[in-house]
This record gives sequence, structure tokens and C-alpha cells, in this order.
Amino acid sequence: MSSKVTELQTATQVNNSPTRGTLFVVSSPSGGGKGTLVRGVLEVVENLSYSVSYTTRGPRANEVNGREYFFVDVPAFEEMVAGGEFLEWACVHGNFYGTSKQQIAEKTAAGIDMILEVDVQGAASVRKLLMDSVSVFILPPSFAVLKERLCARGTDTPESLAVRLRNAPNELDQYSAFDYVIINDKVERAVRQLASIIYAERARCVRQEGLVRRVIEEFRSVDDRG
Ligand code: 5GP
Repeated sequence: MSSKVTELQTATQVNNSPTRGTLFVVSSPSGGGKGTLVRGVLEVVENLSYSVSYTTRGPRANEVNGREYFFVDVPAFEEMVAGGEFLEWACVHGNFYGTSKQQIAEKTAAGIDMILEVDVQGAASVRKLLMDSVSVFILPPSFAVLKERLCARGTDTPESLAVRLRNAPNELDQYSAFDYVIINDKVERAVRQLASIIYAERARCVRQEGLVRRVIEEFRSVDDRG
């Protein structure tokens, strides 16, 4: 497996301002259920947008280009890498995946929070940028549950399934580098927990400085003190 953080000046600037959107980075082993949690949270949390990654993996039966991923071939991906178009990219289970710098920059500049679904390498890369990101690790409750979910999904070849299960323990080992861990045993509860993390992080003083200052200034400017 390999990963790379590209030149990130634009993206670094993006998250240094408290008036800009925040990046919420969600990782888990393949089959850990992060897709379901992310979809659930996008339904209930306002002002949150999903970062659609680029991948060289082929689309699964139910996947739509531009919705789950932008599906590209290896030369096109390499061209994007060379052009510095990725915030981060990694080779995961034998395919390339990358987060679009432009999507992140546009949305966060508009004050919209972004949710990124990336592997543990991608999460480490984003952390290294010293950006004001929040990372959440989704832990499947047991190996049996993970295997069952991957099998039930029915989208992996036996080889791909074996690779994903083999890589899982090493991915789990990375949990302590994250800000939060959610044990994904009950989907509804896990969605509520992820939404709570987002709301709590939004309420941090540092992220509300601009807004709070405006309110305080308004208080100071009022003549009528009774
Ligand atoms: P899948 O093939 O099952 O959709 O995804 C395989 C792994 O790649 C998952 O852990 C997923 O989170 C990760 N992944 C998806 N998009 C990106 C990305 O843009 N960057 C990185 N580093 N990993 C990604």
C-alpha cells in the first residue's frame, strides 16, 4: 500500500479559518459500515456535504459515476496526481483512491462542512497537513460481523474479499491516532453518535469566533441599556 500527500497550500488555507467549513474524516476497514453511517448522517445533519473521491476501482452494480465515486482509469488518475489535484491519495487494496482538492476548497470556502470517507492512510495524510480536521474511526464490533457485512454486500470477488479481511487488523491498529472511535454495533445509535460529534465540534469556541464576535459587537453597539 502507498499514499501521498500532495502540495496542499490551498487546502491548508481552507481550514485555518474558523469561518470556513470543517473536514470530518471518517475511516474504517472495508465493510466497517462507514458508508451506511455517512449516508445516515448526511440525512440528518444540515450544511454537510460528501466529498466524492476519484478511484481506479471499477464501479459496483449499484454505484453511479459522480455519486459514490468518480471512476477513472489509471492514466487519468496519474495525470491528476501529477497535476496536484488531490488533497491526498492512496493505493488501497490494490486500487487508487484520491480526495479532490477542488471539491474541498470550494465547499469549505462556502462555509460548508465536508465529510470524507477515506482509508487509514488517507486519514493520516489529512492529519499531517495540520488542518483543522476531525477524524473518526468506525470500529466493527467483531471480525465475524465484518466478514458477514462484506459477504452480504456481495460486491467483492473472493480474492478482493480475502485482501480486505487480511488488511483489517492492521487498519484497526490505527484507531488511536483518531480523535474519536465509534463502535458500529447498532447503526441508528452509531449515526446519532457521529451526528453528535459533528454538532459538538461545530460548537467549539474556535470554530465560532467570527459569529460570537459579531454578537458581542452588536451588544456593545446598542445604546438602549434601560
Ligand atoms: P471501497 O473500494 O470499498 O469503496 O473502498 C476501499 C477503501 O478506500 C475504503 O476504506 C474507503 O474508505 C477508501 N477510500 C475511498 N475513497 C478514498 C480516498 O479518496 N482516499 C483514500 N485514501 N481512501 C479512500
